[in-house]
Amino acid sequence: MEKLSKGKIVGVNGNMLTVEFDDHVIQNEVAYAKVGDTRLKSEVIRIRGKRADLQAFESTDGLKIGDEVEFTGELLSVELGPGLLTQVFDGLQNPLNEMAEQHGFFLKRGAYLKALDYEREWDFTPIVSSGDTVIAGDWIGMVPEGIFKHYIMAPFDLHGEWQITELSPAGKYNLKTSIARIKNEKGEEREVFMAQNWPVKIPIPCYKNKLLSSENMSMQMRTIDTFFPVATGGTFCTPGPFGAGKTVLQHSMSINAKADIVIVAACGERAGEVVEILREFPKLQDPQTGRTLIDRSIIICNTSSMPVAAREASVYTAVTLAEYYRQMGLNCLLLADSTSRWAQALREMSGRLEEIPGDEAFPAYLESRIAAFYERAGLVELNNGEKGSVTIGGTVSPAGGNFEEPVTQATLKVVGAFLGLSRERSDSRRYPAIHPLDSWSHYPSVVDAGELTKARNILKRGLEVGQMMKVIGEEGTHIDDFEIYLKSEFLDYVYLQQNTFDDVDAACSPERQRYVFARVINVLDKKFHFTDKDVARSFFLELRQIFIDWNYSKFKSSEFMELEAKIMDKVKEHSNA
Ligand code: ADP
Ligand code: MG
Repeated sequence: MEKLSKGKIVGVNGNMLTVEFDDHVIQNEVAYAKVGDTRLKSEVIRIRGKRADLQAFESTDGLKIGDEVEFTGELLSVELGPGLLTQVFDGLQNPLNEMAEQHGFFLKRGAYLKALDYEREWDFTPIVSSGDTVIAGDWIGMVPEGIFKHYIMAPFDLHGEWQITELSPAGKYNLKTSIARIKNEKGEEREVFMAQNWPVKIPIPCYKNKLLSSENMSMQMRTIDTFFPVATGGTFCTPGPFGAGKTVLQHSMSINAKADIVIVAACGERAGEVVEILREFPKLQDPQTGRTLIDRSIIICNTSSMPVAAREASVYTAVTLAEYYRQMGLNCLLLADSTSRWAQALREMSGRLEEIPGDEAFPAYLESRIAAFYERAGLVELNNGEKGSVTIGGTVSPAGGNFEEPVTQATLKVVGAFLGLSRERSDSRRYPAIHPLDSWSHYPSVVDAGELTKARNILKRGLEVGQMMKVIGEEGTHIDDFEIYLKSEFLDYVYLQQNTFDDVDAACSPERQRYVFARVINVLDKKFHFTDKDVARSFFLELRQIFIDWNYSKFKSSEFMELEAKIMDKVKEHSNA
């Protein structure tokens, strides 16, 4: 064991500390600054000679020149093991409910708690045998955690092959008890526990291959799955102006996405938003399991008492937890709201470090940090042949909804799908406010490509006519153009718009999307011969009501068939097709 460095504070600037140290320190090493009896956690972010710049994760009030700093020799890490699910952590993985029990609602500075309960016993079943060889990440045993098999894995930091020399039999053990001993060729020995630590800024590397993400991860939202799909192991971003519905959209994804595990990283933009999440989330019902959603979720949220540095840590903590469950062959969805807050933390710290600023004072490395974060998504083939995935979706909240700003632009370069929220749509309460023309996705849709192209054309032309009508008015519009406009409005109302707060409409399965979409396109494909704009309007309004009732009613194919006949009769009345 190397000697750990000690240091003395030589400068305090906001939550940046400059420390002169005696021995040696490493980048991203954790250190504690001492103010009285309180130890404040911080991370080394720059080293120059015998001086290190640290970002403190808490208020630096009261710290002064000459105060002592202890370095830990360890990188900022998270605890990984059974018992993570259902928990609510802050960016440093302090369990918030427990913190509140111990220290009251206003979190105490310098209070850190273990993320996992090391006394709690888990029902361990070995799945390898003594004498077997393992490499990093191999499944050694399992414990039940909620509805999942939580695999106990060989430490992720192992190099090469190790032989199991001792293995505990099936039974109840706590996280402090070693469940195996392993030995390598060099004769080094290690004990294996059911929990392990991993540094948050390093991706967990234990897999054979990254695979192409091409399988749809249904969000059960028509605009997304049909028009701008997300793939399992893919990435997407949701930029939008303040109040356009980013948080509501992510919330509904967390409930309806076809993922095994949902990890929510919340950096609240509004006061009280995080408290609301803490209060509401644990009560949410899970439509997929009939239990509560929190049983298969982990929430990371930043409390307002923590400075910006904790936001920076929280996205890394969240993605590391997602990778951990991926290692068990599960599909994990990470939703980060909002990544702009994280970028602002980078900007603030960069300013304090007096680095040369890039665009809008963001550091030059903003792009590479954002890229590195999204690159941790992926569908992987584990060493044992099983597949697991991390899908990442982040909101971006550019000031004034201007997508040309650096965070949105850097994100757009790396993600596979862009769900841009439009102020115009949210103002007219067309939810979800995802812009049907500006948005895009590189992933495959749940519906037929030919039908999709038809729909896109209708929306595009409808929007053009709509713009034109704003100038020349309805009277000056040709009936054929008016019909296109009505068709695109119809498509918008019956398909793009979806009511998150309706029990039935909140979730629309891909099967239902395929069925309804084909019906909608079938109607829109017809050439109608309206002579009167009012007749055309009333026709589409009536049809629209049928479709809306249809979407909101429970899926029954008999009802569908009846309705379909009714719709087609109506269409025939009004067209020569
Ligand atoms: P953002 O996170 O983009 O700032 P929110 O998601 O908090 O915006 O949404 C702001 C408000 O807009 C919500 O409180 C709600 O009233 C309304 N809203 C957003 N999405 C929807 C939706 N899908 N259906 C109905 N109302 C919505
Ligand atoms: Mg929000």
